[in-house]
Amino acid sequence: MSERTTAIAYEVVIGLEIHVQLLTDSKMFCECATAFGAPPNTQTCPVCLGLPGALPVINRKAVELGLRTAVALGCRVHGTSQFHRKNYYYPDLPKNYQITQYEYKIHPPLGTKGSLELTADTSPRRIGIRRVHLEEDTGKLVHVEQHGQILHSLIDFNRSGVPLMEVVTEPDLRSPEQARLFLGRLRSLLQAIGVSSGRMEEGSLRCDANVSLRRPGAELGIRTEVKNMNSLRSVERALAFEAQRQEQLLDRGQPVGQETRHWDERRGVTFSSRTKEEAQDYRYFPEPDLVPIAVGKQWIDEVRASLPELPDARRQRYASAYRLSPYDAGLVTSSMPLAIFFEATVGHYPQAKTVANWLAGDVAAYLNAEGLEIEETALTPNHLAELLRLVDAGTISIRTAKEILPEMLRTGASAEQLVADRGLAQISDTAAVGSVIDRIIAEHPGPASDFHGGKTQALTFLVGQVMKKTRGRANPELVNRLLREKLQS
Ligand code: ADP
Ligand code: MG
Ligand code: ZN
Repeated sequence: MSERTTAIAYEVVIGLEIHVQLLTDSKMFCECATAFGAPPNTQTCPVCLGLPGALPVINRKAVELGLRTAVALGCRVHGTSQFHRKNYYYPDLPKNYQITQYEYKIHPPLGTKGSLELTADTSPRRIGIRRVHLEEDTGKLVHVEQHGQILHSLIDFNRSGVPLMEVVTEPDLRSPEQARLFLGRLRSLLQAIGVSSGRMEEGSLRCDANVSLRRPGAELGIRTEVKNMNSLRSVERALAFEAQRQEQLLDRGQPVGQETRHWDERRGVTFSSRTKEEAQDYRYFPEPDLVPIAVGKQWIDEVRASLPELPDARRQRYASAYRLSPYDAGLVTSSMPLAIFFEATVGHYPQAKTVANWLAGDVAAYLNAEGLEIEETALTPNHLAELLRLVDAGTISIRTAKEILPEMLRTGASAEQLVADRGLAQISDTAAVGSVIDRIIAEHPGPASDFHGGKTQALTFLVGQVMKKTRGRANPELVNRLLREKLQS
């Protein structure tokens, strides 16, 4: 190869840190409620306000949910697992330390060295899970602003001490798209095992993304950490922007700075937060107020036995039971709500492959374009089934179905209603009438050849058959014209 390089090809390297609010009723180390949306500072006590002398007690349910995750991700679960203090000062952290877990060999986090398989339309890829650990959330700062200036800040400690789980991947992801797919699969898994609601827009699942570039095969490059994405699509967009920004720097021979950057959803850019994150010394040390978590083999076995069908198994089952392509099976199991939607639709309309095609095709395209999840749309399984039946019955063409689907997703309108209101039934649908005519001609070769032989009554008979087939809904003039054209062609 010549030295005169064209654009240098870089490999994108991504590792994710995912924070998950666990579905517990009470906080990590006290009895306070975790319910979202209560008036500020009404769900607090001396423990989560960090008052001197208050002692934490570990929430068993939170440990169990962490354990479910660790087991489902195939992690090595450690018999004893220790909490640590991560010391730093910030107004939303009343104790001036966060109780968390750290990656010490002698005091390991709950689970380490797991993996999750990623099946995109490409070949399967195993994404390493570095660790699963438990910690507590901080309080929430509310900045009161005027003309873009912060006047003062308020603190709501309702979130202080809410159980959090952190899942950290190895830097095994190789594109922004893979990062989105991975996060979708992880979210689907967490929903399936009852650990998280998975609602990114409510902050119950938050993803920080580390990204760097390197020449293929070279050492890992310097990474930036991107925060503040609140949907799967933003994660992909933010990473794509960040990879491109780094590429431009490297192409100009400039270094990438190791820093934390924030994603601006509206402008579609990442920006450097003013306070540049320095290498901090958190002075981690074992939490002296808590005994280590002891997880015996029996508990692990119980958890393993209680896990429901996981998304990967579901994907394989769909692929074989419904004869779906790996891509379609992966898509309809990409989130729990979508999988449930798929099965419910198949309950109303048994041609699973057609259902999967629509979900993986037009429905997925709509969701992508709007940045929505299926459960955020107004479409119901019943209505989708109805739409597909209308196509089968020849009442509307596939094209018409594709045209009204977005409205069904947006408003929850029923297909039949839309077709009736807009006169979309075959009256105005040449393609659908045409396909019925084709069938009638095929079914009645006699009259068709009679017509060729000059018997015009044969045409009247065929028109009658088309009208019968369409239960009178076809426009007779259109039927006449199309029949003549088809018979003469
Ligand atoms: P820290 O705890 O300081 O954030 P870690 O080394 O634990 O750093 O890594 C955090 C995350 O960053 C992990 O998901 C890891 O896979 C990812 N990561 C580490 N180095 C890189 C890199 N050079 N490029 C992309 N991601 C990286
Ligand atoms: Mg980090
Ligand atoms: Zn409390």
